[in-house]
Amino acid sequence: MTLQSVLEDIRKRPGSGEVIPVIDPVTEEPITEFTDCGPAAVDDAAARARAAFEAGVWAGLPGRERAKVMWRIADLIEQHADELAELDSLNTGMPLMQAQLVVPTCAEFFRYYAGWCTKVNGNAYDVKTSGIASDTYVDMHTYTLKEPYGVVGLIFPWNGPIFNASAKLAPALAAGCSMLVKPAEETPLSALLLDRLIAEAGVPDGVVNLLTGYGHTAGAAITAHPDVQKVAFTGSTDVGKEIVRASAGNLKKVMLELGGKSPVLIYDDADLDQAIMMAAMGIFVHSGQGCVCGSRIFVQRGVYDRVVEGIAMIADNLKLGGPREEGSMSGPLISQKQLTRVLGFLDEGRSDGVEVVTGGHRLDRKGYFVHPTVLTNVERGMRLYQQEIFGPVVTVLPFDDDDEAVAMANDTTYGLAATAWTTNLARAHRLAKRLQAGTVTLNCQLVFDHTVPFGGYKQSGWGHEFGREGIEAYMQTKSVWAQL
Ligand code: NAD
Repeated sequence: MTLQSVLEDIRKRPGSGEVIPVIDPVTEEPITEFTDCGPAAVDDAAARARAAFEAGVWAGLPGRERAKVMWRIADLIEQHADELAELDSLNTGMPLMQAQLVVPTCAEFFRYYAGWCTKVNGNAYDVKTSGIASDTYVDMHTYTLKEPYGVVGLIFPWNGPIFNASAKLAPALAAGCSMLVKPAEETPLSALLLDRLIAEAGVPDGVVNLLTGYGHTAGAAITAHPDVQKVAFTGSTDVGKEIVRASAGNLKKVMLELGGKSPVLIYDDADLDQAIMMAAMGIFVHSGQGCVCGSRIFVQRGVYDRVVEGIAMIADNLKLGGPREEGSMSGPLISQKQLTRVLGFLDEGRSDGVEVVTGGHRLDRKGYFVHPTVLTNVERGMRLYQQEIFGPVVTVLPFDDDDEAVAMANDTTYGLAATAWTTNLARAHRLAKRLQAGTVTLNCQLVFDHTVPFGGYKQSGWGHEFGREGIEAYMQTKSVWAQL
């Protein structure tokens, strides 16, 4: 299965909508193109998914049989690791090495959730009940069943294509759901290969249905579809709100993994070399296109100048380039649209009086590259301080004490992640309680594990992925009462 065959096959996918070019963000040239699947394809896919679910071809298998197939998916991902990494790096412009590091994690998603196939059970309850008009108690045999939702919609963004796909598909498959799967229109390539691997591993027809198209067409049709019982969405907070509105028709359940504006607090007692390096990488890696990127850094006043200088130095020395360019450490933004958006924030900031310590412009070369940017003299009313930019742009502000640091950190509508760098462990754990975020990292950043629940506070999301919560998100609870 060559990379070329994926580029060709996507062209042949049937569709009824617009032709969508897939653009290489490094060259700004089309790599391939495909036709938006259109709403009729979503209807067909939903009918197939529903039929597969009702026939029990997947949900009806014993957990251990589903687990075997999921292990085969993991093995196939490893066998095709090079192609998957090449597709993602070609499609997003990320360094090849970075894409290569992600692929084993994707295989692990399938292995980890394969283990859960045999471990999610209900409970038994020892209940005696009195009937409505009776004063005698009757023994009951009462228990709960954990059942898959049925047909679910999985919609995800472009920033980590194969990672995002695996993070959703693995638990949904383990739970026994059938699914409509929509990757981002910018990055459909690795999902196409994964779809083939899933079929090759033995997932029955109709269980996984890949839909390639725009958000406002394919995505919206999935979200509004009456046969879809739950939507698991990763993407921007604005689209998350649209998903909630569109789900109202059949009151489908919704899981949302949304945007962030994550704070990083650096205290004067921190290991500053490490804090500076990690805080810089925590925003500049992948050109700031990570949901947990620490885009607001707050530094205790005594070390403020040193931290600003250190982060700016890393920004200036970070080599940007295409996946195969020698020494490239970070790639471009995904699209012209994102480039325009990020530069728009920067222009607005400049006219509002923000100080650009370094960066603030696109690179003078082909590709959607933005110089890693450090901004100071930023005020809370500014749009670039409040809104997620999703680019390599960080604001750095000073603070004096814990209360001020926490107030500034929590002064956002988002609540995805937060970090504190301090060697005072009592303070670190106090901060962990006070920071309003679904994930708090202490003296570390960019950490992840399949076993640890991940989800957003405030407008960063609803529900959790990963860990036990990750599979339970695709299951509902039924209570069964039997009178003895
Ligand atoms: P986006 O919200 O524009 O798109 C995400 C997905 O939703 C795409 O597949 C898109 O086609 C689809 N979509 C768009 N409009 C839709 C609609 N009306 N109905 C249904 N689907 C629709 O997000 P993006 O710009 O592709 O990705 C960046 C965003 O994703 C950032 O906000 C980032 O923080 C967020 N993100 C969050 C997490 C997390 O785990 N919390 C992880 C990665 C990215």
